[in-house]
Amino acid sequence: MSHAVLSPSSASRWLSCTPSARLEMQFPDKAGDFALEGSLAHEFGELRLKRYSNIIDEPEWNKKTSELMENRFYSESLEEYAENYAAFVWEKYQLAQKTTADAVLRIEEKIDLTAYVPEGFGTGDAVILADGTMEIIDLKYGKGVQVSAVENKQMMLYALGALDMFGFMYAIHTVRMTIYQPRLDNISEWEIPAEELLIWGANELAPRAKMAFAGEGSFVPGKHCQFCRAKAQCRALAEKNLETAKHEFDDASLLSDTEISKLLEQMDIIKNWMSAIEEYALQAALNGKTFPGFKLVEGRSIRKYVDEKQVADRLMENGYKESAIYEPPKLKTITAMEKLVTKKAFTALLGDLIIKPQGKPTLVPESDKRREWNSVENDFKNV
Ligand code: SF4
Repeated sequence: MSHAVLSPSSASRWLSCTPSARLEMQFPDKAGDFALEGSLAHEFGELRLKRYSNIIDEPEWNKKTSELMENRFYSESLEEYAENYAAFVWEKYQLAQKTTADAVLRIEEKIDLTAYVPEGFGTGDAVILADGTMEIIDLKYGKGVQVSAVENKQMMLYALGALDMFGFMYAIHTVRMTIYQPRLDNISEWEIPAEELLIWGANELAPRAKMAFAGEGSFVPGKHCQFCRAKAQCRALAEKNLETAKHEFDDASLLSDTEISKLLEQMDIIKNWMSAIEEYALQAALNGKTFPGFKLVEGRSIRKYVDEKQVADRLMENGYKESAIYEPPKLKTITAMEKLVTKKAFTALLGDLIIKPQGKPTLVPESDKRREWNSVENDFKNV
């Protein structure tokens, strides 16, 4: 697992806020379980691609698959998502072979980034080279945030490292970056001329990475703070958020629409920041720290049966009927059922019995990809 000062996955952060990388090192990395689950999905994907490519034979594939199934993060759905990723890459590779007979597929390629980022390294999940185009595909197993390939700094770093590796063997004029995020049904692609990427690498990435590695530059809060390990205690972020809260609004009793828009823009950042402070302060208090004006108390809790069978037996011994003390069985939730029967079988078996009711109206930034809620259309529905 990567312990580089400047990890590619946080590149968008240290490129925007160069001192953040060194500051973050003071705080523990809590991504542990998610990272391990993601690694397992990558291992399954890699194994399947190696089998498709005949790098490993059937017995070896079976043996290694069984070993991976012992992992505590294993689930059928994880394996299915990884299989779908491998099929996606393999299909792209076969398509590339149609136009370029000697198309190349590299799987889980270690990428040296030191030409741009001090001590930088990464792994390209899949790289396809064909017809002057280098495509770099990244499997994102997380489902918390939908990731876009457009100007994705992590992908741009990987692509620069891969250009360094393959650029002198193949004439690459275009770089395509593809994110495959199966748990959100998200496939995002972005292309850039190789020349343009190299210019960005030399003029922007390398000097910013040098500053970030040295811990130099100014703290710059923004959307990139969301996953910063320092966010609960970062002064720059606190000052920015508090400044938003006491915004120099127009001198009137009520906020204007424009002022409400400004607050909405900042809402996610502020909510995320406040939760981080709450989580940090609780943990610190549990470790003995005291915060003036606050104390630790026991939270509310609800009563629980110690043993449901014993409760039922005792009630029935005392004359209560089974039908009166038990609730009728309930179907599992859709998510739990999908996990039980696997995603593919679920759609085939129950697809026609699942409906998705219209969601509640939600205010989102204009850049959101969802279609705008049509209030006139919806007014007519209620007539
Ligand atoms: S919270 Fe934001 S401003 Fe503060 S160090 Fe992290 S990235 Fe920089």
